[in-house]
Amino acid sequence: MKVPFVDLDAQYQSIKTEIDAAIAAVIKSAAFIGGQYVKQFENEFAEYCRAKYCVGVGNGTDAIYIALRALGIGPGDEVVTVANSFIATSEAITMTGARVVFVDCDPQTYNIDCEKVTTVITPRTKAIVPVHLYGQSVDINALKTIAQAHDLFIVEDAAQAHGAEYNGCRVGTLGDAACFSFFPGKNLGAYGDAGAIVTNDASLADKCRMIANHGRLKKYNHEFEGVNSRLDGLQAAILSVKLKHLDTWTHRRRDNAALYKEYLNDSGVPSPYVAPNVKHVYHLFVVQVSNRDAIQQHLSSKGIATGIHYPIPLPNLMAYRYLEYNMSNFPNATELSKKILSLPMFAELQRKQIEYVCTELQQAIKYEGDKE
Ligand SMILES: *Cc1c(COP(=O)(O)O)cnc(C)c1O
Repeated sequence: MKVPFVDLDAQYQSIKTEIDAAIAAVIKSAAFIGGQYVKQFENEFAEYCRAKYCVGVGNGTDAIYIALRALGIGPGDEVVTVANSFIATSEAITMTGARVVFVDCDPQTYNIDCEKVTTVITPRTKAIVPVHLYGQSVDINALKTIAQAHDLFIVEDAAQAHGAEYNGCRVGTLGDAACFSFFPGKNLGAYGDAGAIVTNDASLADKCRMIANHGRLKKYNHEFEGVNSRLDGLQAAILSVKLKHLDTWTHRRRDNAALYKEYLNDSGVPSPYVAPNVKHVYHLFVVQVSNRDAIQQHLSSKGIATGIHYPIPLPNLMAYRYLEYNMSNFPNATELSKKILSLPMFAELQRKQIEYVCTELQQAIKYEGDKE
């Protein structure tokens, strides 16, 4: 049996008529940049997040960069984020001219260790960029207490967490602004690059919109230099179609996670921990195994595709050598990077595929797990 890591074609086949019609309509109206489809999706996505404003941008990395810049963050500032994320999070911080400061993660939730955040705050610290990693919200109340005490902004990296909840609130409204990616493989994915910033602050939304569009709101009234990072009409129309299905897909992801947990029960493989006050959207289903690389090989030989998110903690990347971090400050991220394994996870995954993955995973552990 073959089990892909994600299956974007299976998703497309299930909504092909709607998608094809939406694409044709955009081309016919030539609303490629800006226009009604972008506006419509921005309104729908703001409503989905239960937020007031949504600004479509070119991708999730730019969303973080633009939100931080709109908050006035730049050279001389420091911005705190977590050691285990995709490089886009820290890259966007550096793009503003600010210095990125890494904090270790919590070993249970994989999210930023809130207690350690206070230890890195200096007079130059301006913001925290927590990542709702794998689809689980960070403990935002703990971060808000710290942010209020030190007068810091919170910009959520919600690239993996469309629709996730914390105490009944959707991510996207938990901080000053939230940044989403619609990279094709994300829970809500476009057919190319796309992203968005969500906020309840009208002037911040306007500022983001200006930065994303050459520093203007009106055609040739450039108030400052911005960038060109806009959500395009085709992607917006595709996203509007897909947004209608997102809750159904999220429920299927949760059902699939429940099946994984059931089949892995008593296997000795720890399933993801879910905090009691959150709703996880399972962008990824991440387990931990020892001798991970051999187990991944074994699964691959059985037709099962897996991933590692992420194999090298950010402070240990060549890109951040200049920050001269001592990796002993990141024991949890370091330990996890050796053990984490992302199993196939998408809405269209079949029960028999999940059962097969779990059976083969247990076989792999039996043969490879104790060879270390
Ligand atoms: C995907 C992702 C991003 C970046 O999004 P792009 O749209 O690819 O630029 C940022 N942060 C995290 C955690 C991501 O997973």
